[in-house]
Parts: sequence; structure tokens; C-alpha cells
Amino acid sequence: MQRDQNDLASGRHLTESRAREEIARYCALLWERRLVTGTSGNVSVRLEDGDIIVTPTQVSLRAVAASQLVRTDAGGDPRQGQGQPTSELPLHVAAYQARPDVHAIIHTHPTFCVVWSKTGAVFDRDTVGARETLGEVAWTPYEPPGSQALARVTAAEFSRGIDTVLMERHGLSAVASTLEQAYVATDLAEEAARIAFFSRFLPER
Ligand SMILES: [Zn+2]
Repeated sequence: MQRDQNDLASGRHLTESRAREEIARYCALLWERRLVTGTSGNVSVRLEDGDIIVTPTQVSLRAVAASQLVRTDAGGDPRQGQGQPTSELPLHVAAYQARPDVHAIIHTHPTFCVVWSKTGAVFDRDTVGARETLGEVAWTPYEPPGSQALARVTAAEFSRGIDTVLMERHGLSAVASTLEQAYVATDLAEEAARIAFFSRFLPER
């Protein structure tokens, strides 16, 4: 994938049209990397004025178009003429409220993260990639998808300064100042979970 300097810019500095393009591009990438399936997963960017650009409900991230993305106010109410946002919007709103430094959120259902979440703990982060690039990850207990309770337990971890949360029997949520950083955290977390899973089959040494 082609990258340019603008990818490094904070979401805060993105115009609405650029934010829409970037979100659509990362949605396709999440699908290609198999970090989401079906219509699962949702992505958002917070603009400089506090409004949120977020993926719509019931649309596969495989082919979400920039024009399908929904602009809401900071409280999650869609601006006039916009479609229906993801049902997981409360999580995004709560995360942005918890973290003024965050301008991008990626929520996914990566297979090995979901499997590992059932252990009630976070996978080891003992590989070079995980140790160097993936920060601390928190585990949170199951709450129904789309609920305020889920938004609350997840945002509580973000407010402690943790950027990546493993959600029991559900998936992963990563917050960052840019979509690129949130994407890298998501990708690395799934790799760390995959390695931790297969490492359980190794003989003792
Ligand atoms: Zn989900």
C-alpha cells in the first residue's frame, strides 16, 4: 500500500473528505488482513472540531465507500442528512471523551484475539514486535455489544492511558492519534495472540 506523509498526521488535522478517504482505505486493509469478517468491525476519526466520522451500520468494511461514512457530533448524534452509524458508536464516543489525545479508533474481531480473550487474560507480549511496538494491552469482561456498559468498561481502560483493549468473547479496540498507529496496534495484537496460542503446543524446555 502506498503511504505518504499525511498518514503520519494526527486525525485532528485531517479534513472531512481526507478523513473519509483514509477510513475507507484502512477498512479495506483490515478486511484484506482478515482482522474483520462479515459486517463486523468499525472505524472512526475525530476531526478538529470534535465531530466524529464513523463507519455505518450493516455494511462490510470490505467495500465501505467514503460517501457511506457517517458524520456525528461529539455526542454521537448524526449530522443532518447522514446515515445510520455503527451500533458500536457508544464505545467510540466514550473513548474520545476519555482521551483528548486520541483521534482514531479501530474496533475489530480478529480470530486469535477473540479466542484468547476467553482465557480471561491478555496474551504474552514477549516477541520482539509486540515488545517494541505494541504497548500495554488490557482485558475487559464481557458486556453486550453496542451497550453503554461495554463502552464504559472499555473507556475505563483507555482513561488509564492504555491504548489497546482485548474484549472478552468479542474482539479488540485500539485507540491512537492516527489511523496508521491504531491499525499497526491491531495487526500486532493479532500476531501476538496467534503466537501465544501456538506457543501453547510447544514442548517444555
Ligand atoms: Zn464488535
